Amino acid sequence: MRVAMIGSGYVGLVSGACFADFGHDVTCVDLDPGKIDRLNQGIMPIYEPGLAELVTGNAASGRLKFTTDLKTGIAGAEAIFIAVGTPSRRGDGHADLSYVYAAAREIAAAITGYTVIVTKSTVPVGTGDEVERVIREANPDAQFAVVSNPEFLREGAAIQDFKRPDRIVVGTEDMRARDVMTELYRPLFLNHSPILFTARRTAELIKYAANAFLATKITFINEIADLCEAVGADVQDVSRGIGLDNRIGSKFLHAGPGYGGSCFPKDTLALVKTAQDAGAPVRIVETVAAVNDQRKRAMAKKVIAAAGGDIRGKTVAVLGLTFKPNTDDMRDSPAIAVIQALQDAGATVRAFDPEGTEQAQLVLNNVDYTANPYDCLTGADVAVLVTEWDVFRALDMDRVKSVMKTPALVDLRNVYRPEEMARRGITYSSIGR
Ligand code: NAD
Repeated sequence: MRVAMIGSGYVGLVSGACFADFGHDVTCVDLDPGKIDRLNQGIMPIYEPGLAELVTGNAASGRLKFTTDLKTGIAGAEAIFIAVGTPSRRGDGHADLSYVYAAAREIAAAITGYTVIVTKSTVPVGTGDEVERVIREANPDAQFAVVSNPEFLREGAAIQDFKRPDRIVVGTEDMRARDVMTELYRPLFLNHSPILFTARRTAELIKYAANAFLATKITFINEIADLCEAVGADVQDVSRGIGLDNRIGSKFLHAGPGYGGSCFPKDTLALVKTAQDAGAPVRIVETVAAVNDQRKRAMAKKVIAAAGGDIRGKTVAVLGLTFKPNTDDMRDSPAIAVIQALQDAGATVRAFDPEGTEQAQLVLNNVDYTANPYDCLTGADVAVLVTEWDVFRALDMDRVKSVMKTPALVDLRNVYRPEEMARRGITYSSIGR
């Protein structure tokens, strides 16, 4: 099938490359010429494991192309995906849909013949109706259907998630569009991925409900972790003890510095706004968003305590900057709030991240970046492990102890065991233990 992907970011590029790998003929469009130039030279604009091989392989076979020109990019496409960003709108927290509608207007002007326009971006309930209206208004004679097909991939495991999803959600009432979507995803059926057909508005809401539920699970265990600290219990055992119950499940029960990333913070906020506007407030999600927001900055207090109560003039080594391992994505990373709070308290910050430095430099000021964890730790008064990259999971603690000014580690991901750290003479604190 001929497929066009509008927006070649984390979702558009991965989806486009995977569809091409399944044999479809895909053109990825982006209005950022730098991104498209890099892709045409085989250079990835983002870090995602396995992506470079997938993209270059499919580009070489001619099934995957890149362009900034939407009109040529969508020529003859049976399905056009909108995979542009939907960040929080400044000021009110609603999803900013300006990129989606701009893409819809451009598509409207260029489609010929029956076309399925698929919203893959995460968009609030009713956006599909508005996309349809925008296209109809711009091109009254166009033959098209607008379908919701939210994406559930996780950065860091995006290719595996796209190719073997737990489910594919397709929201449409148009039978012809349903056939096109079935054909498009048919290669994934071989992996027995269930496809859920539903109404468009329902599909739009499924994505927000899923993210809000996961954010709630994380926030729940984070608050239980605080309670564990207050009463002398161990949150990892609590997690295990409740997670082994099939009704609860063990995933997303790892206590930490609060959720970040390009999805949970903005999507919980957007759901709260949609629900308020609809007169059906989601108070649990409102609380989750507020609790999580405070949590990230509060993590700095643990670091200040580990430095003896005053961090002014002291050097903090930050291990890990991205919101999770195996991505270079810094959007809403807890590291940002932690570092800013430490700098506000007078600390000097040094950091190491295996892939995130380039993105971090765009959002953080006055941070010294080092080439490896040990350079980062050298001479530091206290270290804080913010992102659990593999490279931080088995640090040589004797070396850590010898290079730090004072061997103090705050482990916001519970990577190490308190007893082991005590045995090695490292002042150690973690989450909920
Ligand atoms: P991104 O910022 O990485 O990519 C968006 C791309 O769209 C950018 O490269 C931008 O230049 C391009 N763009 C914007 N307007 C355009 C236009 N009119 N024409 C062509 N290109 C245009 O964003 P992302 O992380 O890929 O997220 C995209 C959407 O998918 C969002 O709605 C997000 O919520 C959702 N989503 C993201 C993830 C994730 O893990 N990143 C997972 C599931 C869903």
